[in-house]
Amino acid sequence: MDGIKRRVAFHTLGCKLNFAETSTIARSFPEERFERVPAASGADIYVINTCSVTDTADRKCRQAIKKFIHQSPEAIIAVVGCYAQLNPSKIASIPGVDLVLGTNEKFDIAGYLSGFPKKGKQGIHSCAFSENDTFNPSWSAGDRTRSFMKVQDGCDYSCSYCTIPMARGRSRNQGISSLVEEAGRIAGRGVKEIVITGVNIGDFGRSTGESFISLLRELVKTDGIERFRISSIEPNLLTNELISLTASEPKIMPHFHIPLQSGCDRILALMKRRYRRELFAERVASIKSFLPGAGIGADVIVGFPGETDEDFEETYSFLEGLPLTYLHVFNFSERPGTAAEKMTGKVPYPVREKRSRRLISLSEAKHRTFCVENEGKSCSVLFEHSKYAGMINGFTENYIKVELPWENAIAGRILTVRLGDISLSGKVKAEII
Ligand code: SF4
Repeated sequence: MDGIKRRVAFHTLGCKLNFAETSTIARSFPEERFERVPAASGADIYVINTCSVTDTADRKCRQAIKKFIHQSPEAIIAVVGCYAQLNPSKIASIPGVDLVLGTNEKFDIAGYLSGFPKKGKQGIHSCAFSENDTFNPSWSAGDRTRSFMKVQDGCDYSCSYCTIPMARGRSRNQGISSLVEEAGRIAGRGVKEIVITGVNIGDFGRSTGESFISLLRELVKTDGIERFRISSIEPNLLTNELISLTASEPKIMPHFHIPLQSGCDRILALMKRRYRRELFAERVASIKSFLPGAGIGADVIVGFPGETDEDFEETYSFLEGLPLTYLHVFNFSERPGTAAEKMTGKVPYPVREKRSRRLISLSEAKHRTFCVENEGKSCSVLFEHSKYAGMINGFTENYIKVELPWENAIAGRILTVRLGDISLSGKVKAEII
């Protein structure tokens, strides 16, 4: 070894899980041989962690890969993650790509790279679906405020539009005792909030015979972590027991993000979702009965094959009638190898766009109503370390984003504030009390 450290940069696309995994992969690079540098600056090695949830995600991945190849033509370009697992040869066909690693292999990247003396020698390593069964613990450490902690991976469901089971394999998880140790390590870094993440976290325990609620009951005992936020949970896995634990345990945030996908039962059936809209409405009502002030978000897909104007209006009025506080709206995207890709009744893109614009406006109206309902209330906010236009941001327990003029002393702290009105930026003004 010539003693010169190689500069390595990381770029992540996609979900919280990907950010947790990139952060863990970055920690696997020995500091004595590698120096971590920002992706915008020149590097000897670029590791790009990809997403493939929609065709837009695929396109953004290809753009990022080409950007770094252009930025540093001599650098080693390593592409990992879901897009690399699902489409290794397509990625390898991009001139300038050196290494393509699938879901399992990405965690050994430092090893693959140490055998990679120079540019131009190409390596493709992506495991077969059947072998995609290893659980690699991961948590993000970049942001000193909160950490995304992976508790579960893969999925045993077969929603007709989704490629994630193909990219990430069967549902599996780490045992509760070792996850509690991980949480202790995260607390040791001064982080205050853990965002519990995975692919289908309500299905936690599939590979260890444990349960998600048992995991939560153990995690909240972690000293130093004051907040646990559940990143997302399937409606059919959101039990009353879980909601009531959230209501009684101050460390679990009163914020639920629940993938609905459609408010029309006919479309839910075509999507092969494991519930109908009545169950979703009943879950929301249950949350509101235990936690009237809770934040409740929902994912919705518009333009699914066969979705008529009437179906969409059914979804719209269903959502309009529910006390949700925001929506994440996605245009249906044909994914290779899925049942939905072959379905008839394709909805033209302009119609998909029009429907998603309507739901985005509905989401903004619901969020505004929720903020107005909370105006004048006092609550606790975890203030972040990042500065935006001279302001500091933070989230309340029920997921309202607030902003204050920047103050060094409050970064990374949980403080009590009184909520004010909503600013043009959509954030809520607040005063510390
Ligand atoms: S629950 Fe459905 S949408 Fe979610 S990851 Fe599993 S298959 Fe995909």
